[in-house]
Amino acid sequence: MRSPAANIVQDINDIPSPYLNGVFDLKKYRVVDLLLSRGCKWRCSYCIIGENPLRYFSFDRIKAELEVLVKKAPELSTISLITTDLLENEKFALKLLPLMREISWKRGIKFIFDINVNSLSARNIELMKLLNCADFEAEIGVQSRNNEVLFSCGRPGSKGIEEGFELLKKHAPGLSVTIGIIRGLPGDDINGYKNALSWVFSTGYDLQVRHLRILPGSRLEKNKKQYGIEIIKKYPYFVSSVNTIPRKNMLKMVRLTEDACFSYKMIRMSKALKDNFLTSASELKNNSEYPHLEFAEKFTIWLGKSRKFGKIYRDYNQKRKSETLDWELDYGSFENVSLRALLVEFVKFKSSWKATKPAGKR
Ligand code: SF4
Repeated sequence: MRSPAANIVQDINDIPSPYLNGVFDLKKYRVVDLLLSRGCKWRCSYCIIGENPLRYFSFDRIKAELEVLVKKAPELSTISLITTDLLENEKFALKLLPLMREISWKRGIKFIFDINVNSLSARNIELMKLLNCADFEAEIGVQSRNNEVLFSCGRPGSKGIEEGFELLKKHAPGLSVTIGIIRGLPGDDINGYKNALSWVFSTGYDLQVRHLRILPGSRLEKNKKQYGIEIIKKYPYFVSSVNTIPRKNMLKMVRLTEDACFSYKMIRMSKALKDNFLTSASELKNNSEYPHLEFAEKFTIWLGKSRKFGKIYRDYNQKRKSETLDWELDYGSFENVSLRALLVEFVKFKSSWKATKPAGKR
C-alpha cells in the first residue's frame, strides 16, 4: 500500500526546530543529529533523497541550534550533521566549518558528516583546509570504480577521484575519512568489486561497505526487471542477485569483504603498519591486478593460521556465520590486539610471501 506523494515544503525554515523549541531535555544526550538540509541535487537510482530538490536551513538557524546544543547538553560528545554534502554549498560551509572547529576546540565535540566525492576538487581547497580537524569525521561514498556502473546509477563517473583524495590528504591530513562502496550494484561483477576494494585499501582510509538494498520508490525499484534484480523479501530489502552478479557470486563478494577486512582493520590500527602495508602492496602492482586486496587477503590467511591471532580469527568467523547478507562492515572489535605481536606477524608474513601471479578470478 502506498500513500500519495506529499507536497514538498519549499522553505524548510518553516519547519519548527525541535532544539530551538525545547522539545528534548538535552541534559543526558551524548549524541545528536542536526539536520542541515533536505533533498539532494543528484538522483542516484538506488536512493530516494534525490527525488526532492536540495534545500537548506538558514545558517542563522543552524548556528542558534548549535548554541542550544552546546549550552544545554553538557554530556554531548558527537554531533552528526545530516546533509548529503557538507561542501556543496560553499558559502554555507565557509561559515559553518569555523564554527564547528571552535566548538570542537572548546568542548571536544566530534562532528560526523557526509561529503560528496565530486566536491573534492581544486575549487574547494579552502574548504578542505577547514576540514583539517582531528574531531571531524567525513564519510565519502565512492560506491564503485566502474564508470559504466556509476553512469547507469545516475552518478557522475569516477574521473578525478584519485586527484580529489590526494588534495584532501594534502590539505586535511587530520580529517578522519571513511570511504563507502556499494556491493551488488547492477552492471558490477566480482572483478569490479575487487577493484573498488583494493583501491580503497590503497588510500589507507577506513572502509564502509553497504550491501545494495532496494528502497521502495527508488528508480532501481521501478526498473528492477530491467536489471534482473532479485530481492530478499523482508526488510531491509537487500538484493540477492542482479543481472551481472548471480547469488553465488554475491555470497563470494560478502565473504571476500569479510576476509580482506579482517587484516585491513588491524593494519589500520597502527600508522607504522599502515604505511608499511601501503608501500609493500604498491610494490606488487606489476604482479597483481588488485595488489592491496590480495595483500590483505593473504595476510588474513596468515593471521588465521598464527598462534596469537588464530583464535581472534575463529571468533570473527563464528560471528559472521550467524549473519546473512544483512551485514554491514562491522570489522569486529580488535581492541585487545597486541600491536607489537601484530607487527611481528606482519614482518614474518612479508618475508615469507611474494606475489608471484595476478589475483585469480573468483
Ligand atoms: S546517494 Fe547521495 S548523492 Fe545520490 S541521490 Fe542519494 S543523497 Fe544524493
